[in-house]
Amino acid sequence: MRIIVQKFGGTSVATGAQRQALADRVLEAVRKGYRTVVVVSAMGREGDPYATDTLLGLARSVCPALPLRELDLLMSCGETISAVVVAGTLRARGLDALALTGAQAGIVTDSNYSDARILRVDPERMLRCLKEGRVAVVAGFQGMNDVGDVTTLGRGGSDTTAAALGAALSAEVIEIYTDVDGIKTADPRIVGQAKTLKVLSYQEVSQMAYEGARVIHPRAVEIAMRRDIPIRILSPSSPGPGTLVTHTTGLAVAAWPDIKEGRLITGVTHISDVAQISVTQPEGRADPEAALGVFKALADVGISVDLINVSPSAQVFTVAGRVAEKARDILAGLGHHVSVLPGCAKVTVVGAGMRGVPGVMAKVARALARSGISILMTADSHLTISCLVRQSDMAEAIRALHEEFGLEDEEDTPTHKEAGQ
Ligand code: ADP
Ligand code: MG
Repeated sequence: MRIIVQKFGGTSVATGAQRQALADRVLEAVRKGYRTVVVVSAMGREGDPYATDTLLGLARSVCPALPLRELDLLMSCGETISAVVVAGTLRARGLDALALTGAQAGIVTDSNYSDARILRVDPERMLRCLKEGRVAVVAGFQGMNDVGDVTTLGRGGSDTTAAALGAALSAEVIEIYTDVDGIKTADPRIVGQAKTLKVLSYQEVSQMAYEGARVIHPRAVEIAMRRDIPIRILSPSSPGPGTLVTHTTGLAVAAWPDIKEGRLITGVTHISDVAQISVTQPEGRADPEAALGVFKALADVGISVDLINVSPSAQVFTVAGRVAEKARDILAGLGHHVSVLPGCAKVTVVGAGMRGVPGVMAKVARALARSGISILMTADSHLTISCLVRQSDMAEAIRALHEEFGLEDEEDTPTHKEAGQ
């Protein structure tokens, strides 16, 4: 059996016209001989009746402190409705389609309500369905835990559903349909001239996703990478080739023996609404125990920290803006001197090509200085350089870096054979 998984995001299932475009893509796959699994998100964005954010608003209006278990049951409804509607659309187009909840599709998760991890997929029912020649339409973003409760997988969870099913069913390719025609050199909402990238490695995409490019969820990339299943990101209405995500490391170097300066960097990503927290020990006294306590206290309540800079007498780091006050209260409660700088953003340049290349940080600093943007903090890894800037400087910082690294002029011309065709 040649199996394909096709995931459609919220803006690809919202209207009748979009669902017809979706059906065109499914029919195309079926005609090519694929057994097809369709994974769907909830229909539309906040304001649409069954969109995830609308359901969240409903929950808040009923009870501000609804337990996460209850909230998950409500939030999962958006995708369930979407699965039935999409299966109905396919049925009307002559396909034998079956709508399934995450649980019915065999997705078993842990009990971390609202951000559950997929523990395993029991694929028997899906395989039966596909063997019978039916199209399985699975509600994304949801699973079931070992006590039989419905759980949800967190933001971008439908991507994870698609990847997990693709892995469990040994799919030939996972297609992610969304409202852009592929992964771009920056968020097109901020950089109008951002280019669509043709081929990227799993590593680059997972870095871009972790650093804020929400076009695909990083967990989905990791799941596909482990099983070496190619991912294609594309738009249902403008059927170009989109972006292929596969193992290009090594190949990338062979394909671009004269790597242009521009290809040093693959893209620029951002994370909005970050707060910088500075913790100092009384009278600036070095206290390694206290430093350890800071990070442990935050970890204990599930607050993740980023851009960490530790010196003997101070710890400076960032947290998501929405948890900044909570972090401050916890640390102040432990007797630390805490100051919070809200209204920051993290801007990151990502690129497999910059590994070991000197001068990238100098270019980053120069581009931001030229635009009059101050860098509040930096961090780097072998694929990334990140800068913390003020939220009000974020868009300009992204555009300055995009220009500095020549991303809009770049010819993206990989030469190796594309997989997943
Ligand atoms: P879906 O509902 O289909 O999952 P998302 O809103 O989660 O869609 O993801 C698509 C959005 O991701 C695009 O509309 C775009 O604004 C945003 N985005 C951010 N960074 C990038 C990038 N580098 N390339 C493409 N899209 C990006
Ligand atoms: Mg998404």
